[in-house]
Amino acid sequence: MAEKIRVGVLGATGMVGQRYIKLLEDHPWFEVTYVAASPRSAGKLYKDAVKNRWLIGAEIPAKVADLTVEDANDEKKALGKCQFVFSALEMGKDEIKALEAAYAAEGIPVVSNASANRWTEDVPMLVPEINYEHLNVIAEQKKHHGWDKGFIAVKPNCSLQTYMMPIHALIKAGYEIKRMVVTTLQATSGAGYPGVPSFDMIDNIVPFIGGEEEKTEKECLKILGTVKDGKIENASLPLVSSTCTRVPVVDGHTACVSLEFGDKKPSLEEIEKIWTSYTSVPQELNLPSAPVHPIVVRHEENRPQPRRDRETEKGMACVIGRLRPCPVFDIKFVALSHNTKRGAALGGILNAELLKAKGYFD
Ligand code: NAP
Repeated sequence: MAEKIRVGVLGATGMVGQRYIKLLEDHPWFEVTYVAASPRSAGKLYKDAVKNRWLIGAEIPAKVADLTVEDANDEKKALGKCQFVFSALEMGKDEIKALEAAYAAEGIPVVSNASANRWTEDVPMLVPEINYEHLNVIAEQKKHHGWDKGFIAVKPNCSLQTYMMPIHALIKAGYEIKRMVVTTLQATSGAGYPGVPSFDMIDNIVPFIGGEEEKTEKECLKILGTVKDGKIENASLPLVSSTCTRVPVVDGHTACVSLEFGDKKPSLEEIEKIWTSYTSVPQELNLPSAPVHPIVVRHEENRPQPRRDRETEKGMACVIGRLRPCPVFDIKFVALSHNTKRGAALGGILNAELLKAKGYFD
C-alpha cells in the first residue's frame, strides 16, 4: 500500500476541526500527523484540549488523541510534520488571510474552510463537481507570490453547497438561470462551538446570520465563473436574493429556492432527469469522498428533512424535494445538505482529494 500523505489540521479543536479528525480516521490517502489551534489549547494533548467538548461520536480517534496541540499562529512548527494543512480556524479575517499565506510561503499547501481568502482573485473557491477547472489558477497564484510548493485553495460558504450543484446541473444542461430567491434554514452547528446560546435557539428561529446573505448572494458568481488569463472571471448571472435564518437543528442546512430561467425553460420531468443523472470529475476520478449520486431527488411531499436525509451519500449529497412550478418565477424546490460534512470538513477533504489526484501535492 502506498504511504499516506501526512496532513495537519489548523483549528483542530473546533466544530469543523473535530469533524476533520473523525473523517480522516480511516482515510485511504491522508493521515493526521499534526494538530494546531489557539494558544489556549497549545501545549495540551489533543484529548485534553477537547475534553468535555468532543462532539463527534463517543471516542476521539486513537492516533490523534495523544498528539500535542501546537499554536496555529506559528507556521514554522508545522514544517516537516505534515505535507499540507486543512484550515478550520475561526479568527479575524485579516489574521486568517495572513496566516494561510504564511503557511503557503513555507511550502505548505492550505485547503481552507475559512472565508478569508474566498475573494482573493487567484484563489480557487472549489466545489469539485462544479468548478474543478478553477484549479488552473493555482499556477498563477504560486508565480505571483513566488511560492514553490505552497498554495491556497478554499471552499465556499456551507449554505451554498445545499443548492449549487442543482443550479450548476441545469446550467451545464444549457439552461440560463436569470434570477433566484433563496431562504436558508441553517443548523446551529454552522455557528461553531458553543455557537448560538441555547436560550436563543430552543423554541425559536433567529432571522439573521451576520454576513451570510452577502456571501450567499455573491459567492455563487465566483463558483460559476470561468478561468481567463490565470484569473477567475465571475459569472454575471443569476441575480440572487437571499434570507438566511438559524433554526433549532443540530446538523443539516435546508434551502427553499425559486428559480427563473431564460427564454428556454425545462419541464419538471427534464429537470429531474438532469439532476438524477448529474455526475462530474470527482465521480469519474472515483475520489474516496465523492458521492456516487451528488444530487438525490425525493418524491415524498414532506422531504427532505435534516434528521432523515442529511446522511444521504455519507453526508455528501444534495437532497432535493418538493420540485414544483412557481407562480412568480418558473420553478421552486427544497434542498438539503450536511453543513459540517459536504458544507465543511468532508467538502474540504474532497477538495484535497481532487488536488492530490491532479498532482498538486507531488
Ligand atoms: P469553532 O468551533 O469556533 O473553532 C474554531 C477553531 O479555531 C478552534 O480550533 C480554535 O482553537 C481556533 N482558534 C480560535 N482563535 C484562534 C487564534 N487566535 N489562533 C489560533 N487558533 C484559533 O469554529 P468552526 O465552526 O469549527 O469554524 C471553523 C472555520 O470553518 C470558520 O472559519 C468557519 O467560518 C468555517 N466554516 C464552518 C462551518 C460550520 O458548519 N461550522 C461550515 C463552513 C465553514 P481553540 O479551541 O484553542 O480556541
